[in-house]
Amino acid sequence: MIRNHTAIVLRPTPFQDGGLVVSFLTEHGERLVGLAKGAKKASARWVSNFEPLGLVNLGLFGKEQAEVRRVTRCELLHSPLTLGHLESNLVVACLADVFDRVAREGVEDPRLFRLLSACARALKAAPDRALAVLAYGEHWVLHCLGLLPHPRLCGHCGGAEAPLVLFSEEHGWRCAACTPVDPREAFPPGVREHLRRLRTLPVDEAPDPEGDAAARAVTRLLRERLRRELGEPRSYVILERLLVR
Ligand SMILES: [Zn+2]
Repeated sequence: MIRNHTAIVLRPTPFQDGGLVVSFLTEHGERLVGLAKGAKKASARWVSNFEPLGLVNLGLFGKEQAEVRRVTRCELLHSPLTLGHLESNLVVACLADVFDRVAREGVEDPRLFRLLSACARALKAAPDRALAVLAYGEHWVLHCLGLLPHPRLCGHCGGAEAPLVLFSEEHGWRCAACTPVDPREAFPPGVREHLRRLRTLPVDEAPDPEGDAAARAVTRLLRERLRRELGEPRSYVILERLLVR
C-alpha cells in the first residue's frame, strides 16, 4: 500500500542502476527509508528533490514492516540550501547527518521534526547565521536524547547560585560551591546564562556560538558530546576543516 507523508530528506545514498536509497524524517519524527529507482538518471524529474533537509511531500509504497519501501512521489516544498553559501550548506550536511543517526525506524518523536524543520527554515532565512543554527540544533538534540541535564541546579549539590565549573557525563553540571577545579580548567563565567539563552530563545534568535568565552566553551562541549555519542559523523570533519582554515 502507498502511504503519504510530509517529511524531511536526511541522507541519499547511491544504489544500483542509478537509484538512490534515501532516509527521511517524517512529520511524526520517525525515520523511514525509501528506494527511488532511477533517481540519478538524467531523465528523472525528481533528482533534485532528494537533497538533504529538503521538505517534501512523500509517497512510499511497501508492506508495513518492510525495511525499504519504494518512493512513488517526492515533491519538494522547501529547500534550505543557499547557492554558493558553503558554510550554510555544510551545516545542512551536519544536521542531516545528526538527525539520520538520532531518528529511529518504529519510534516517533515529533520534537525531532519540529526542531529540524525550524532549523531548515532559519538556515534559508539567514544563511550567515548557520553556525548559530547548528549549535542551537545540537543543544536540543542532546536534550531530546536525554543527555543534557537542566543547568539551573548543580547536579551534585543542587545549588543554583554558584557558577557552573564543569560538566561530566556521570554527574552532569557541577558548580563552584561543591567542586574545586583548577581555575584554568573551569568554565569561564556566564555558562549558565548562555545555556539559558539556548533554552529560551527561538532558533531565529539563537545566541552567537562564538560570542564570548562562555559561549565558545558551551558550543565546544556540546558538539564534542554529540559527536562522541553519534560516532563522529563525517560531515563534521569537513566542517571543521573549513572553519579552521
Ligand atoms: Zn554544586
